[in-house]
Parts: sequence; C-alpha cells; structure tokens
Amino acid sequence: MNTITLKPDRDFTLQKRHPWIFSGAVANVEGRPENGETVRIVNSKGAFLAFGAYCPNSGIAVKVWTFSESETVDKAFFERRIETAFHLRQGVFPGGLPDAFRLVNAESDGLPGLVADVFGEFIVCQFTGAGAEFHRKEIAEVLENYAGKGVYERSDVDSRLKDGLEFRTGVLSGEMPPDRLAFTENGILFQCDVKQGHKTGFYLDQRLNRKEVMEAAAGAEAVLNCFSYTGGFGLAALRGGAKHAVNVDTSESALKEAAENAMLNGFPDGSFETVCGDVFQYLRLCRDSRRSFDRIVLDPPKFAESYTHKEKAARGYKDINLLAMKLLRPCGKLFTFSCSGAMDDELFRKIVESAALDAGVDFRVVKWLSQGPDHPVSAFFPEGRYLKGLYGIRC
Ligand code: SAH
Repeated sequence: MNTITLKPDRDFTLQKRHPWIFSGAVANVEGRPENGETVRIVNSKGAFLAFGAYCPNSGIAVKVWTFSESETVDKAFFERRIETAFHLRQGVFPGGLPDAFRLVNAESDGLPGLVADVFGEFIVCQFTGAGAEFHRKEIAEVLENYAGKGVYERSDVDSRLKDGLEFRTGVLSGEMPPDRLAFTENGILFQCDVKQGHKTGFYLDQRLNRKEVMEAAAGAEAVLNCFSYTGGFGLAALRGGAKHAVNVDTSESALKEAAENAMLNGFPDGSFETVCGDVFQYLRLCRDSRRSFDRIVLDPPKFAESYTHKEKAARGYKDINLLAMKLLRPCGKLFTFSCSGAMDDELFRKIVESAALDAGVDFRVVKWLSQGPDHPVSAFFPEGRYLKGLYGIRC
C-alpha cells in the first residue's frame, strides 16, 4: 500500500477525526496509487493517521475510511460499517423500521462516497466518489444482504465527475426494480421512480417534516406546496385534514407522479392540484391576483452549490420567503427549508427574519427543523447536516 505524507501541522483535521484531506495538505504521494485506491496516511514525522481513498483528480485528495491502524479496508470492513448503520436505523424509528429509509448516509456512516436507500425489497445506491467506486464489488455484495429482491445503482451524480468518474446506472445485483416502487410514509402511500426520479427517487430526508406539516394541517382550506416534486408535503397536508393543496414544480414528470400518488391515496377529486411552472413566477402571480393560503411549504432545490454562490443563493431564499410571508393568511403557517450545505443555520434564520420584516408581518418561529433520523450527522463531520428549516406562524 502506498503512503501519503502530510505537510507539517496539516494533520489537525484528522486529529479531530474529520474524514477529508484537502490536496493542499499533502506533502508527498508515494508511488502511483490508482483513483480510489486505499492509501496509508502519515503525518510529517511518519506517524500513522488513517487509511483512506486516494482521489487524485479532486480538491479533496483523500477521504478517510478508518482512523484505526488495525483495520483493513476489505469486504468485512464494509460489512461492519453497513451493519452499524442498519442497527442505528433500527433504533431511531419508534414504530419500527419503515419500508423506505436511508440505510447508508456517506461520511456520516463512516462510508464516504456511499449512499444507500431502502425502498421495500429494493436498495437504490449511489457511488458518489472514487473510494466507494473502487470497492463497488465488495459493497454490492454486502448491500445485497439487505435487499429482498435487488440492488439498483443510481450513480448519476455530479460529484463523480470531480473524482474523474462517469455516470453509471443499472442493476447492481438481483432483479430490476419495477417502474414504480411502492412504499408508505407517515401512513401515506407513495410510488416512486427509482430509475428516473431525482436522487434515488424520493426525498426521504423530509419524512419527519412532512409529518410536521400533516399535524399542522387541520382546518387549512388552502395549502401551497412549492417545489413539490412528487407531492410529499401536499399529500401530508391533505391527510392531516387540509381541504385543498396546490403543488408547484417545474418538472412535468414529477407532477405526473404526484398526481398518481394522490389517486393512490383516494383523496377527493380536485383536492390535489398540480401546477407546472416556476415557483418564483407563481408566487408573484398569486400576489398580483391577491390569492392567500393557510399553509405554505417552501422546499427549494440547492440554491448554493458551494460557498462562492452563497450570496446569490441568499437572494433566492429571501425572494421566495418574502413572497410567501405576504401570501400567508393571518395565523397561516409557513414551513421553509434550505438543503444547501453552504447556507448555515444563522444565515438562513436571518433571511427568514428579514423576509418577515420586509413583508411587514409578525412572524413567530414555532420549531426548528432538520433532516430525519435516518440521515444522522457524524459529530466529526458537521457538513453532514445540510437540511435546515423552520416552522413559523404569521400572527
Ligand atoms: N418537496 C419535495 C422535494 C423538493 S426537491 C418533496 O417533498 O419530495 C426540489 C424540486 O424543485 C424539484 O422537484 C425540482 O423539479 C423543483 N424545482 C427546481 N427549480 C424550480 C423552480 N424554479 N420552480 C419550481 N420548481 C422548481
């Protein structure tokens, strides 16, 4: 195994067990390790620090697999890590494991570059980086044990390009999943398209927040679900007692699935409406036509891909939150989210506060929201906490 030596005083992140080594911290690379190959990392004095996956094409030169010198990165290693991840999930759902949940959450489960979601009898996984790709055979063999029928790969994520990898999708083992995979969330039936849908097919991280919307929906006449994707929040609101939900998204295929999901749950005709369009425009349209809502959900895609886009992203969040505040009826409830890791809690809070101020409404935050328990965050990897949101009431 080749050794990577760090520059003097550049081992402080590893001392704190953070799993990334930036290329600027590397003093020397022994030999010519392959993309994703496991390397031994030592400090400038030659003392062992970790074993990790070498990513020569990326700004993050190494992603750490283990800080233990006695551990070998082989199939048994992945068995142990995935078993730990599975046990954690078994312990965090009060009603028992749901039929759809995230089994492996990359760095936060000690497995950089690997995401695996369970949907009923299938697992949909993503090898998002070179290290996981290098060990794909062993990982696939382990995941197979957790899937009743098959493992499907959705490695069509941009982060692969940074690691010099191409997109790859298809059956990894077992059967091909059907075009629509059925599961339930908070008692609502869903079907998702794991082959063509976003990410692995469904945004599992919002499970508890959809429950929150469901529990706050009683008495609502009009709900506006912005960036609805396949309708998750809109359906939760209807199940919670809301009369009508408008679901806005630019993706026609996502809205088609949303409508199918509404049918599946037998909600009264006309209670679930879909609008294919741009949320920024739709909110303005509502403002100009003086429409108002009892509940509004804002769950936009990542506006900030990186810290350099933070300011532009902040303007986007401000815009939609300001408009939403204006459209809220008195005592109306807003559920607003940001899934940009680059957007910190503090900035997001300030944006929502200034949106309320500029809208001239009195707004009280009732609850801070985050990602579900199957998306745990390692204490040593704060970047893993990407989803932030708040639930507030216009007084
Ligand atoms: N709330 C969803 C997940 C949202 S993901 C859920 O609970 O599952 C973000 C969604 O925003 C995607 O479906 C994407 O198609 C949509 N989108 C992106 N930009 C948009 C825009 N400007 N207007 C409307 N929808 C947009």
